[in-house]
Amino acid sequence: MGAIDSLPPLREVIRAHDLRARKSLGQNFLLDLNLTAKIARQAGDLAACDVLEIGPGPGGLTRGLLAEGARHVLAIEKDARCAPALAEIAAAYPGRLTVLEGDALHIDPAAHLTPPIRVAANLPYNVGTELLVRWLTPPDWPPFWQSLTLMFQREVAERIVAQPGSKAYGRLAILAQWRAEARIVMQLPPEAFSPPPKVSSSVVHLTALPEPRFPADAAVLSRVVAAAFNQRRKMLRASLKGIAPDIEDRLTAAGLAPTDRAEQISLEGFCALARAVAQP
Ligand code: SAM
Repeated sequence: MGAIDSLPPLREVIRAHDLRARKSLGQNFLLDLNLTAKIARQAGDLAACDVLEIGPGPGGLTRGLLAEGARHVLAIEKDARCAPALAEIAAAYPGRLTVLEGDALHIDPAAHLTPPIRVAANLPYNVGTELLVRWLTPPDWPPFWQSLTLMFQREVAERIVAQPGSKAYGRLAILAQWRAEARIVMQLPPEAFSPPPKVSSSVVHLTALPEPRFPADAAVLSRVVAAAFNQRRKMLRASLKGIAPDIEDRLTAAGLAPTDRAEQISLEGFCALARAVAQP
């Protein structure tokens, strides 16, 4: 299969603009446009959506998103060296790509986007996790986004979709699954990237639910879950001692055993506990 657009191959773009990958920016580029188109397809129907892309780099995924029909892509990139390559893409798709230069952790994209909004990104993993947590914990629900399609190192992806009773189960699983549906939709070996990272990667697709799966106050749930998993090997009556002086009664009221450990508690159980803790 040929390239998905009339632009030069990514290897050429990288050579022409001297975009040698920088470790400090977590740069591992995707150069196979068939692969980036496949990732873009995982983001769902883009035709009626604005897409927020964080960290476009030389634009492999950006080209995939545009070729798959995204109404408009807003791309936020920290590395100014990528601007000329991204400008070429903007010229090939008139009026459909806006690039903002800066740190995605300090830019509020909402003013530049029109709903419905989907998010797609292949980001450095530390930035990706921080943004994911922010996107999952907005002041109001539903959030500004309809879906998130994000690349993570496999171990982080497994934490997002983890179920009770597994080592990977923790705060990230609860946060992600309380108000979203989270699935691993693709696995990528290190060789898919240039340069190859040390670990395998997975694409996770999250869809925002209109309502949380179980009622709970977000701040209380977050506090309870953080305390429970901070000392995940301890029994809940010990790990949650600081949450309420009568925590044993509240655990019982929530239908949980004070001797249970965090790893055994379902999302529903944590939500029941957050409600019991919030009682006067
Ligand atoms: N999306 C491109 C691809 O798939 O080939 C690049 C992926 S590379 C793993 C991560 C990109 O995120 C790099 O282009 C890097 O410069 C950019 N980046 C890193 N930190 C960022 C931040 N805080 N805000 C915006 N972009 C960032």
